[in-house]
Order: sequence, then C-alpha cells, then structure tokens
Amino acid sequence: MRLGNKTAIITGGGSGIGRETAVLFAKEGAKVVVGDVNEAGGQETVAEIKAAGGDGFFGRLDVTDKAQSRQLVKDTLSRYGKIDVLINNAGITQDAFLTKMTDEQWGKVINVNLSGVFFCTQAVAEVMMAQGSGVIVNASSIVGLNGNIGQVNYAATKAGLIGMTKTLAKELGRKGVRVNAVAPGFIKTPMTAAVPDKILEMMKEKTPLLRLGVAKDIAYAYLYLASDEASFVNGAILSVDGGLVI
Ligand code: NAP
Repeated sequence: MRLGNKTAIITGGGSGIGRETAVLFAKEGAKVVVGDVNEAGGQETVAEIKAAGGDGFFGRLDVTDKAQSRQLVKDTLSRYGKIDVLINNAGITQDAFLTKMTDEQWGKVINVNLSGVFFCTQAVAEVMMAQGSGVIVNASSIVGLNGNIGQVNYAATKAGLIGMTKTLAKELGRKGVRVNAVAPGFIKTPMTAAVPDKILEMMKEKTPLLRLGVAKDIAYAYLYLASDEASFVNGAILSVDGGLVI
C-alpha cells in the first residue's frame, strides 16, 4: 500500500482525472476526501471508493470560496485527524480567441484554476506545516508549458501554477512539505469530450506514443508524487503527455 495511513484531499474529485485518482488513492490505502462543486459526481466517486473497500467522504467545495476550503480542512481534521496530501486538481476551460474572449471567461478561469489553488493550498499548508509533513500536487498542463490557440486564460493559469509550485516548493520545503505539479498532455475526460474527432486524431498522430492519455495515466503520476517514493522530489513539473512536445 503506497499511501497506507495517509489522508488525501482531492479537489475536482467528482469527475475525470480527479475521480480516477480518488479511487486509486483509496485502493493504495489512503483515506480520501473528495471535494467538488459537482455533488452528484463527488458522491459517485465516494460510492466507487467504498465499493473498492476504501474509506472516504464527499465535501462540497467551490475552490473559489475561501470559507469552503477552510471548512473542508476542518471537516477532514475532525474525521481523520491529519492531512498528508492535497491534490489541487479542480480546473475548468472557457475557450475563445483573444479578441473574442469576454471578461467573464477570463475572470472565471483565473478564479477557479489559480485563485482556487491559492485558497486550498493556504488552508491546507497551515496544517501541514504544523504537522511538519505533507505533499501538495498541482494540476498544470502542457498548455501552461507551451501555450495553445484559444486558451489564453487557461494557459495563463496553468503557467501561473508552475510559478506557484516552484515558489511554494522553496517556501514550504523547509517545513517538511513538498510541492510538485503534473503537466498532463491530452487526456480523455469529460473536459475534452467536446473536442472534435478530427482534432483528437491529429493529437494522436503528433504523439510519439500514438495514443491519447487516459485519466489513469495522470492518477499514477499524482500517486508517485504523493507517495514516500518521491520523498526527494520537490518543485518538479512532471510532464505526462506521451512525448507530444519533445
Ligand atoms: P473534468 O473531468 O472536467 O473534472 C474537473 C472537476 O472539477 C469536475 O468535477 C468539475 O465540476 C470540478 N470543478 C469545476 N469547477 C470547480 C470549482 N470551482 N471547485 C471545485 N471543483 C470544481 O476535468 P479533468 O479533465 O479531469 O481535469 C482535471 C485537471 O487536469 C484540471 O485542472 C485540468 O485543467 C487538468 N488537465 C486536464 C487535461 C485533459 O486533457 N483532460 C490536460 C491538462 C490538464 P463540474 O463537472 O461541475 O464542472
């Protein structure tokens, strides 16, 4: 069991990569707190965790609401007594070319993908620093490293997370808390479900491994970084993209 006796909070755990991660972590022995705005999805994830013999609960969490992130931390501590892992996985897209992008599209994506990570991390880091141990993993993206047409808001947030990850690795490392990020390539989840088949095929052709990613590919990367096997990995941005951008 790679996460035996650990407690993990996973934001955006009600869908896609977050759900896959929550179930995998539970199978690896973690007590899993599924935070999400999507209550139905979050409850389904918890049902999957329990069906697999794991332990966990759902907490309604809008990451843009500082009070909700603090409440989830409180609920986790009163149930499990500590927090070992935070996976800042919740994220959204609202795509448009620069000239067509509305202030609302810009603001919403910045709020969820960047401010949301700030609020959750601040709430959890206080606990981890007091414990003298913990791991935080952020969901960046290939788009944060390389940019992408139609995603100026999303790319700004995912690049911003790289700066946050490296800064927090320096700030919190000396308190026993590691901070890393995963930069997924193109992964088949509800987030990418609306992408036309033609584009999917093109992405596949461009990827040296000749396939798209699946949620499990990212869940295993989160698992490695969350586990003690990565105890000397801090401030790293792990690309998991099949080699798409080399
Ligand atoms: P997904 O299937 O859309 O899941 C994201 C989850 O986050 C959903 O349950 C969503 O709820 C929830 N969420 C949205 N806004 C939230 C908020 N304010 N507070 C809390 N939860 C919120 O997406 P995914 O593909 O698994 O992506 C997971 C992460 O990986 C994201 O950060 C994404 O940017 C990143 N990523 C994904 C890919 C990819 O190709 N899929 C590539 C690179 C990076 P609703 O369903 O109600 O919106």
